[in-house]
Amino acid sequence: MKKGKRPFWDGFAPGLHLRRVGSRPPGFSAFVLRGGIGRTAVINGATHGDEYEGPTVLRELVASINPRTLRGTLVIVPVLHESAFFAGSSCHPADGSNLARAFPGNPRGNQAERVASLFLGTVLRHADFYIDLHSGGVAYDFLPWSGYLITGRPEIDGIQRDMAACFDDYWCCGSPRLEGRTLSSAADEGIPAIYTESRGGGGVHPDDRKALHRGLRNFLIRFGFLKGPAPRLRKVPIRLAANSDETQIQHPHPAPSDGLFIPAVSAGEHVRKNALLGVVCPMNEESDISVRAKHRGSVVAIRRRRSVRARDNLATVVLLAP
Ligand SMILES: [Zn+2]
Repeated sequence: MKKGKRPFWDGFAPGLHLRRVGSRPPGFSAFVLRGGIGRTAVINGATHGDEYEGPTVLRELVASINPRTLRGTLVIVPVLHESAFFAGSSCHPADGSNLARAFPGNPRGNQAERVASLFLGTVLRHADFYIDLHSGGVAYDFLPWSGYLITGRPEIDGIQRDMAACFDDYWCCGSPRLEGRTLSSAADEGIPAIYTESRGGGGVHPDDRKALHRGLRNFLIRFGFLKGPAPRLRKVPIRLAANSDETQIQHPHPAPSDGLFIPAVSAGEHVRKNALLGVVCPMNEESDISVRAKHRGSVVAIRRRRSVRARDNLATVVLLAP
């Protein structure tokens, strides 16, 4: 049983309910699918406002599940950061606050911290499992992955590994704890949690739509929410970083200057050390600046938005185990 106040869906009859949580802003709409007695999974999209895969697939997921076939409760928030979503931006349009750096939040803090505090207190804290659906947004193309934060608690890390493995069209990434994330608050509450990063690029790629539906279904069956034959999961490449030194194997490539970025590689491409990733053309100089791979590996993120500011990440190269 979870600590503190009971969740707002306690006492809801079996069936589908749509509830507004909080005013607006900060506030969000939550679908509650109430099935038989069981555990609670919380799933949300649009922690960043320009990532459309989560909102799209979660609306479809709600429509596809008959609560009578469900064991337990699903709380689904297709769009968590509404102000960012309606501005078409990753972060809050007024103060630039990033909801993925705002947890555990503060009801009197910046805009994102207010949303974080509301979501943690009313929804996330009551979860037995948590999934946060992200993507490259409008500014990046990703080679999609699922991931989790390594907590060092084997009983939680084992479940997180199994949850991430359900998204078997994606590669898998385990990283050390990072502060401010939805997942760091989940870890503080002892809730197994994962995130996914779909392609992005400002739309919903059909492969991601399929991959997310398959992954969510695998998760719901594997953890007893839906009945069905045990999913036969494909083996995926995995990148585990046991400590912060090891995360150095994941190489970001910051822009050397403000300017126009012209990429020379695509997400998923394998590159050698020193391979050309793209060029930055500064506004007030004639010559372009080449950006080269610091390491061999797979390009898992490449900048799609062509306007860049100095130090914006242009590409991330990761060594993926086969
Ligand atoms: Zn995101």
